[in-house]
Amino acid sequence: MNILLASNNPHKKEEFHRLLPSHTIILPQDLGLDYSFEEDKETFTENALGKALALAKTAPQGYAVLSDDSGLCVDALGGGPGVRTARYGMETFNRMLESEERNAFLLQNLSHLPDREQRKAHFVCALALVVSEYRIFTICESVDGYIALESYGKGGFGYDPVFIVAETGKTMAALTDTQKDRYSHRGKAARHLVTLLEDL
Ligand code: IMP
Repeated sequence: MNILLASNNPHKKEEFHRLLPSHTIILPQDLGLDYSFEEDKETFTENALGKALALAKTAPQGYAVLSDDSGLCVDALGGGPGVRTARYGMETFNRMLESEERNAFLLQNLSHLPDREQRKAHFVCALALVVSEYRIFTICESVDGYIALESYGKGGFGYDPVFIVAETGKTMAALTDTQKDRYSHRGKAARHLVTLLEDL
């Protein structure tokens, strides 16, 4: 299936390319489409649906539209930054931070909590697939872990260097691509998606 991914993030494209090997993943920019969406909803699934429906309006025929809304929920931050994960630190610094800056800000905000139990978190991935006006599917998955005491690992993107997957004891950035796909929020959600796409 030709799948248009409602994202401008090449890292997500790369991950879906690995996770959905029988399908063709294309970004709006690959088709010269201008795509942006304000993530202003209170749940990941609502944001994912909003992203996919917005792009489906301008998508060429023959493409299913897939969106992914992901975020980090830290127990000690009352489940935050949650749906505001991409904008974390913006209120303090009055600008969007780069990934490394956001990670440093997170580590600084948790620096008074040295124990693993105090640093518990989970990463969530909501997917929305719009096949046609009447065939719209959502999937939501998560992976448990905790925030590292310091950033490490060279793989992945975003918060990967500071999020330790509980099952592996390593940050997502220190896992191989295959390991990240096996344990990650997106890997789990994509496996449901594979089954769904086979049924369609
Ligand atoms: P969004 O889903 O594109 O809104 O991403 C929300 C935020 O989470 C952004 O800051 C992303 O960089 C980050 N993010 C999304 N997925 C991942 C991931 O798999 N690992 C690490 N960070 C991620």
